[in-house]
Amino acid sequence: MMRHVASFVALFAILGATGAAQQAPAVTAIRAGRLLDPEAGRILTNQIILVEGNKIRDVGPNVAIPAGAQTIDLSRMTVMPGLVEAHNHLALTYKPEPESNIYYYTYVQESTALRAIQAASNGIQMLASGFTIVRDMGNNALYADTALRQAIEQGWIPGPTIINSGIIIGGMGGQFSPTPEMAKQHNIVYPEYLDADTPDEMVKAVRQNVLFGAKVIKICVDCKPYGYTADEIRLFIKEAAKAGMKVEGHVQTLQGARNAIEAGIWSIAHSTGLNEEMHTLMAQKGIWRAGTDTPEGLAGHPVSPQAYRRTIDSLKDAYAKKVPLTFSTDADYFVAGKTRGELCLEFLRTWKDAGIPNADTLRAMTVNGYKVSETEKTRGPIKAGFFADLIAVPGDPLQDLDTLKQVQFVMKDGTVFKRDGVMTPAAFFHGGPVNGWRIR
Ligand SMILES: [Zn+2]
Repeated sequence: MMRHVASFVALFAILGATGAAQQAPAVTAIRAGRLLDPEAGRILTNQIILVEGNKIRDVGPNVAIPAGAQTIDLSRMTVMPGLVEAHNHLALTYKPEPESNIYYYTYVQESTALRAIQAASNGIQMLASGFTIVRDMGNNALYADTALRQAIEQGWIPGPTIINSGIIIGGMGGQFSPTPEMAKQHNIVYPEYLDADTPDEMVKAVRQNVLFGAKVIKICVDCKPYGYTADEIRLFIKEAAKAGMKVEGHVQTLQGARNAIEAGIWSIAHSTGLNEEMHTLMAQKGIWRAGTDTPEGLAGHPVSPQAYRRTIDSLKDAYAKKVPLTFSTDADYFVAGKTRGELCLEFLRTWKDAGIPNADTLRAMTVNGYKVSETEKTRGPIKAGFFADLIAVPGDPLQDLDTLKQVQFVMKDGTVFKRDGVMTPAAFFHGGPVNGWRIR
């Protein structure tokens, strides 16, 4: 017994000494040849960004570099804040083979455990392409999205900051069209969707997601003819608000859009239910349009010229009417030869074809992304006091958006993840939850 006490004392002495040594976090000075301020839509030259621990300490042209600071030379690059993908599903990857891109079969074939590992991989792929924040909006089996967020936040693996929705809540059946046998005898809809058809079930469904780690609530507004009324959507919004959360609605019909807008939903996913009148109302109410504007030309994912024309016209109209826009792809499938991050960046084509000025596309990918994710007070802008998330590209994205496809440098939470175009994630991997197991 005494020997145990003695070893505890020794242990605490060691911990105390380590704690003292860690009191001064490492300082890194980044020399940015060009620094993009997406809010102002301008480039500043020859800036120094001082990073201390996981935060930005100072930014400016004449910032003194403290003795002993590590320096990173990005003087030939454009440094900019990290990108936001406002609608993805990292624990879902449907494929041409074997499931003919039908995710109902993906879900039947792939366990939550396998999908959680896919999510870890997809998260790393997103970060490598410069996405430092991802809103992960459901279809993640049994809370693989929460596991991903926790693994990143606790310090097991690198990845973007995850704003996850847990299970999508919908009227009976969700987005599936199951047989009666599979739905009623095998409960096949769950956990891909959470059925909620009555007010009690709606409240309980929100609470379940809150309990199991969601940070935003996702509902299927009109996936089935019964859909949700404006009053029912208000109930979701009210219940989510108790936990400080917003509600995103999957909307595919005009009536669904009308109900969601009338209820004052936070964001609307997809553009199929949106017309000029809905855009006008969304602009008036400040409702986010998380349009999932799929470009043509993705191998294995044909988009008809007519459908692509509609997508472009919709994005154009939303922009003209000043609807708040996010960069959001819904790219949850495998395209051979592309990582998940590279696939998402293919969606730049739609923004270019819609004639959106580069400065505004960049705002959608950054400033608006921080707002829709509600990180804008802590994470995103390259400003003193914010978490140190930043990326660097060789060209000037205000002139050429495609330079975003060549992200050379990524820093997340003050730690370098990619340098000279090569991922160097070793510093992110740990044999335990170094940031604390209490992070849920
Ligand atoms: Zn989606």
